[in-house]
Amino acid sequence: MSIRVRFAPSPTGRLHVGNIYVALNNWLFAKKAGGQFLLRLDDTDRERSTLAFAAIIEDDLKWLGLKWDEFTRQSDRIDTYEAAAAKLKAAGRLYACYETAEELALRRKVQLSQGKPPVYDRAALNLTDADRAKLEAEGRRPHWRFKLEPRNVTWNDLVRGPQHIDESSQSDPILIREDGTFLYTLPSVVDDVELKVSHVIRGNDHVTNTATQIQIYEALGAAVPTFAHLPLLVDASGEGLSKRLGSLSIMQMREDGLEPMAINAYLAHIGAGGTIEPVGSLDALVKDHDLSRFGKTSPRFDPEELKHLNARQLHATSFEAVKPQLAALNFGQVDSALWDAARGNLEKIGDIALWQQICRSEIAPVVADGGFASKAAELLPSEPWDAETWKTWTQTVQKSTGRKGKELFMPLRLALTGLDHGPELKVLLPLIGRDRALKRLRGERA
Ligand code: GLU
Repeated sequence: MSIRVRFAPSPTGRLHVGNIYVALNNWLFAKKAGGQFLLRLDDTDRERSTLAFAAIIEDDLKWLGLKWDEFTRQSDRIDTYEAAAAKLKAAGRLYACYETAEELALRRKVQLSQGKPPVYDRAALNLTDADRAKLEAEGRRPHWRFKLEPRNVTWNDLVRGPQHIDESSQSDPILIREDGTFLYTLPSVVDDVELKVSHVIRGNDHVTNTATQIQIYEALGAAVPTFAHLPLLVDASGEGLSKRLGSLSIMQMREDGLEPMAINAYLAHIGAGGTIEPVGSLDALVKDHDLSRFGKTSPRFDPEELKHLNARQLHATSFEAVKPQLAALNFGQVDSALWDAARGNLEKIGDIALWQQICRSEIAPVVADGGFASKAAELLPSEPWDAETWKTWTQTVQKSTGRKGKELFMPLRLALTGLDHGPELKVLLPLIGRDRALKRLRGERA
């Protein structure tokens, strides 16, 4: 059997880390099995789905490197859902109901007051053709419910283990609204059948849909795929992540300058555990992917941990690997010497701008003791400079001024870089060059 999985977001908002967590696990699962990863836009909700959100979803996935092998959009496939609905109607599994929301609410209230579970009573199954014609003549339009078989539905979940849901006390779910539009439940099954999806890997917020969907697969005479329900991510306070949480959107993370591979590596790690290491490519995450390593507890998403991994990722990135990215970000003048000098001090790639300015442009030096700084300026060796220059120079300055340790180095760092921290000065000094160093030690902007 060929392995095919799908990521099926609704284009009703931006993707956040929780969605990408699901997408990534599908992608890794497919790649490890030599299978295919499909992107399906669940856009049957016409009012809330937008083309703009669809475009952002595609961009986000591409940016993360989660390329898809096939693409589908549910709004293009309505005819297929109509055909499946007709099949279910013919089999007596999809039936027309005419109750209004108010009538249903009232019935539930009565049931509850009698101590009964608020389950749909299937009154519509008793309607005659004449009843239906009368209701339609009154202007009512039907919604359609799927007739559940009252039984225990079981499946072996790749994450949660053996599962069972007793459907004898569930309301028959509505599959088609009064306006003829489909809810998520049926189109998802129809697509998974037609697109030959072998494994449905999704968030555990869908566990309750699964038993119903299994009944629909069977009613359509289709093979049931394997299911895997991942525990949903929670934030630091243990709350679930919502699509509306702007700061956790992939778009925001991208604007904040986080590395896509740091996000991927972090999300791959928090679900399955193990050591968290920067990786250079998605392929490096494939071999360790294993759904059975996922627990039932919700992984905690910690933005600080991600930030930290992002920094480690940059520290480990070679100039050759980062060159295209630097060019795309307009840091084309950063060369390998500057990158290697600064990378260990970067939290985000954009921080390179600071070191580019310090080494290649103009800054305001910080000079508190002008006498000491100008003495040091006089003692600057002539060029060419290399990694030894700093040592030679500071030894001379030490001899001449009697200063040592922090007293010696900190004023030089402040004068040369304008900052009290940063990469080693023996690396920076040759990049700054004699002209700039001289002026900065004299307190001039340079
Ligand atoms: N559109 C659904 C969602 O975003 C897809 C669920 C599924 O994977 O079946 O939750």
